Amino acid sequence: TDLKPCRLREELETIITLTVGEARKRQVALALLPGGDSATVLADGDKLRQAFLNVVINALQATPPGGNVTIAIADNGREVCFSDTGPGIPPEALERIFEPFFTTKQDGTGLGLAVTRKIIEAHGGTLAVESEAGQGTTVVVRLPEPEEVA
Ligand code: ADP
Ligand code: MG
Repeated sequence: TDLKPCRLREELETIITLTVGEARKRQVALALLPGGDSATVLADGDKLRQAFLNVVINALQATPPGGNVTIAIADNGREVCFSDTGPGIPPEALERIFEPFFTTKQDGTGLGLAVTRKIIEAHGGTLAVESEAGQGTTVVVRLPEPEEVA
């Protein structure tokens, strides 16, 4: 892979630009919270954006009109949290969401999270999903300190 310093905020602003029209159509408020201006990771920018895009599209698809999708860079500059006010994920599904082809959508591929996890792990990071039915969902992407990357 082709690792270069990537500013997380710039990459996420690109994701907002790509998805804001879909959010508006769905009447979902999509926001990148302030902060993390200097957060930089070593990454393949195309792959990182693909990973972030998969997560944001899932959040938008899950969130009913009037809801929110919020993206925040943690103070440590190494984590990005994607939160939505959708229906959440029941425990039996939560166990399976990273399986290729697992989907609960009529026209889903079930590949988004499987690919996203592969991308993040290839960067030495981790992907965690926290969700309770009825409580919304938070996806946390954690990336390593630049010097930790092999
Ligand atoms: P797809 O989007 O094609 O279904 P994914 O791998 O992206 O495939 O997601 C797998 C499944 O995980 C979805 O079908 C859905 O059941 C669940 N899921 C993922 N993100 C969310 C979310 N933000 N809220 C609720 N369910 C989610
Ligand atoms: Mg998906």
